[in-house]
Amino acid sequence: MDFALTEEQLMFKEQALKFARKEIAPRARENDLNSRFDWESWRKLGEFGILGLHFPEELGGGGSDVMTTVVAAEALGEAGVDGGLMLSYGAHTYLCADTIYTHGTDEQRKKYIPKLAKGEWVGCMGLTEPGAGSDVASIRTRAERDGDSWVLNGSKMFITNGAIADVAVVYAKTDPSSGQTGMSAFIVEKGAPGFSAGRSLIKMGVRTSPTSELIFEDCRIPAENLLGMENNGFLMAMQTVEWDRSTLLAPFVGGVQFVIERCARYAQERHQFGRPIAEFQAVRHKLADLKIFLEAARSLIYRIAWRKDQGQPLNHLEAAVAKLFVGDWSLKPANDAMQVMGGYGYCHEYDVERFFRDSRLAPIGGGTSDIQKVLISRLM
Ligand SMILES: Cc1cc2nc3c(=O)[nH]c(=O)nc-3n(C[C@H](O)[C@H](O)[C@H](O)COP(=O)(O)OP(=O)(O)OC[C@H]3O[C@@H](n4cnc5c(N)ncnc54)[C@H](O)[C@@H]3O)c2cc1C
Repeated sequence: MDFALTEEQLMFKEQALKFARKEIAPRARENDLNSRFDWESWRKLGEFGILGLHFPEELGGGGSDVMTTVVAAEALGEAGVDGGLMLSYGAHTYLCADTIYTHGTDEQRKKYIPKLAKGEWVGCMGLTEPGAGSDVASIRTRAERDGDSWVLNGSKMFITNGAIADVAVVYAKTDPSSGQTGMSAFIVEKGAPGFSAGRSLIKMGVRTSPTSELIFEDCRIPAENLLGMENNGFLMAMQTVEWDRSTLLAPFVGGVQFVIERCARYAQERHQFGRPIAEFQAVRHKLADLKIFLEAARSLIYRIAWRKDQGQPLNHLEAAVAKLFVGDWSLKPANDAMQVMGGYGYCHEYDVERFFRDSRLAPIGGGTSDIQKVLISRLM
């Protein structure tokens, strides 16, 4: 294995870092305070090319490899971009657009990818339901074929970008008697009759990313909006969340670097008992723990990106370990970072408090830590 970044990858990371520090991060604090999705930042991410980096150039993407995509996403976190905007980007690019790209027909790719890659349209993915989270196969949203249409009935819960999306990839049961294998994916556009977004949820963190219900009441969509093969939805959904294990986690790993820089500077500037707090072993150990977490987390996600670039199939055990490690074990570094900064760390304007709140989603979203342990022990 060789995770050494190429000259081009390092240069692109540097460019992404500079871009995000100048154009996006300065508004993160205020956006978080107001729970505001920042359309201006979204437009800029689209112009810079982040939203479609790994799609082919002929579809409006950047034609980049997976490692470049991962280091660019990492750079956004490192620049201090808030976790909410990064979650919106992840759901848009990987859970929605990439599913269309991977499983769609040529027509579907040409219709949706250029708009999504540029950020002209926003995408979302609806899998979770009010009564079905970890137990994905128990979803109850139903899709029935009616002539040249599919008719969807049911609802989805906790959908990132749900309220602002122009297009949704939605999973529904097409053969309820077949369990896992009776599920299919569909492309549903905003404005489809019978389709609406429900209430937006007020959240502890990732506040700049709108999260809502999706409602389908006799929602009629054209037959050609079936995505991938009928009754293959469960496998597609599992493949989709695999991105979660590398690219979606990358901004978070970058975020750890961001808080380390904050904390290290603070520890040198803040004096107590006549000396910088960086001289106290309790503080130094927390900084060391942050660094250890960062190096391990980065290696785990780089390994997945490297495998993807080599064309190797995903190693499910490694993916679950990465998700578990970055997600669950991040709570300690987030807590340590706040502790190093004392009372100021608890206050909004020092950003560590936002990181602490945003990071709390990591052991829940995209498969909880308990589920990762179930997977890891099963695969062992
Ligand atoms: C901010 C946010 C954004 C999200 N975005 C999206 C999105 O864009 N699209 C989407 O489809 N979903 C999205 N989700 C949903 C997310 O993926 C689910 O919340 C997650 O999969 C867990 O499902 P649940 O919340 O229903 O919890 P549950 O599955 O009900 O779990 C509750 C508890 O039981 C535990 N548990 C459940 N089963 C087991 C088991 N077998 N063994 C041990 N413990 C178990 C869990 O670990 C957890 O602690 C989002 C969620 C949030 C909070």
